[in-house]
Amino acid sequence: MNPNIDIKGKQITVIGAGRSGLAVSGLLSRYGAKVLLSEKNTLDSNSPNLQTLQDLGVEIESGGHSDKIFEADLWVVSPGLPVDHPMIQKAKEKSIPVYGELEAASWFCKSPMIAITGSNGKSTTTALTGEIFKQAGLSTLIAGNIGTPFSQEVEKSKSDGIAVVEVSNFQLETIESFHPKISMFLNLTPDHLDRHGSMEAYGKLKARIFENQTPEDWIIYNREDAAVTKLLQTANCKKAAFGLSPHDETGGYLDGDTLVLNIQGKREDLLPVSEMLLKGRHNAANALASAIAARMMDVPLQDIRTALKTFAGLAHRLEFIRERNGVTWYNDSKATNINSVRFALTSFPKSIIWIAGGRDKDSDFTFLADSVKQSVKAAILIGEAADKIQKAFEGMCPIQNADTLSDTIQKADALAQPGDVVLLSPGCASFDMFRDFEDRGDQFKSLVMELA
Ligand code: ADP
Repeated sequence: MNPNIDIKGKQITVIGAGRSGLAVSGLLSRYGAKVLLSEKNTLDSNSPNLQTLQDLGVEIESGGHSDKIFEADLWVVSPGLPVDHPMIQKAKEKSIPVYGELEAASWFCKSPMIAITGSNGKSTTTALTGEIFKQAGLSTLIAGNIGTPFSQEVEKSKSDGIAVVEVSNFQLETIESFHPKISMFLNLTPDHLDRHGSMEAYGKLKARIFENQTPEDWIIYNREDAAVTKLLQTANCKKAAFGLSPHDETGGYLDGDTLVLNIQGKREDLLPVSEMLLKGRHNAANALASAIAARMMDVPLQDIRTALKTFAGLAHRLEFIRERNGVTWYNDSKATNINSVRFALTSFPKSIIWIAGGRDKDSDFTFLADSVKQSVKAAILIGEAADKIQKAFEGMCPIQNADTLSDTIQKADALAQPGDVVLLSPGCASFDMFRDFEDRGDQFKSLVMELA
């Protein structure tokens, strides 16, 4: 527990009853705080989750925030609430410290933390890093932005274990003492600019991951990403670099087909990248970052190799669905920005039937022109962004439009020849037609499985 923050007997307001708000309310009250959980939407007070909290003594108000929220020693806010929200400003004017759920959970973490951020690859790298530590037999906690709130898991942390935490820029907005032993900064490409305004503001937020690190700690960073290396200049901890080309710094790289580590000046060959189950050069980069972190914590090479050979990846990230009549189908619904699409398109030899579109995030699709010319045999476009994408690639490959996912799959099936890959890698958000990227990916998978 963070010795500077004693929450026993403190009055704490938690704003937002999403998964992390519920989890942190329980955590804080189990550690002796008096918690008011306040939610703007109306909640069903009979739900088992809320009942459990009420049994712990958490006071719950819903359907709006009363003035009681300001009678607090500190606040913990949902990552969905922008820090410039008038309510947060008012709390600050009243000198109430405002933290996020990640920060609050970290006060109770007994394990060293590995914190992972970047524009793309966070979840994959978090899960893979966790797999490596599990393989090595350590008590391993995998949490954060990947799905399970850190505050739901943190009480299981052990001083001789490890906590692997995926961290989003939204969560970094509200940290103060969050202090990972090892941080990872995977890459930085435009995303979420609608909320953060500029690339500079977005980058500075991500860089907060290392602001409390000291010379005893490590940051593992992508040396081939200029925006990342620039931000790293202000880091006060030891640095290890990964990249897809050989280099001399402490860290790791790809030498031909081999993943190589260079820790303490000694070359260690991990394994040929072709032996990994995860495909694509971006996943070789993710694997290097994970492997470096594991070696920093003295995980034997053999355990790292085993995990890399067996980790099949997460759903909706270049996920293999099936092979049918010589055609392979992939679901990459999580590719909601153009940088991840670029990696997806370059992960396969030519002849991709590419399914793209959805809600545009103000992307410049022409960024993908070279990859489209090189790898795409035909494109099928859906959703709000279809016209904009069509204009970007007119004349580069045959393009068709589809109204529904089912129509898309029929068209792809009609076009595909043995040896082709059909790839859903939308490069857009899903909210124009689906609940979220998981809903889009799940519907795609079941329709593909229904093909006779
Ligand atoms: P995040 O949690 O950062 O959104 P995910 O691991 O969920 O990252 O992957 C999101 C998308 O980005 C997927 O399409 C995946 O194939 C792609 N991706 C994974 N790693 C990288 C990387 N290092 N660089 C670019 N794209 C990546």
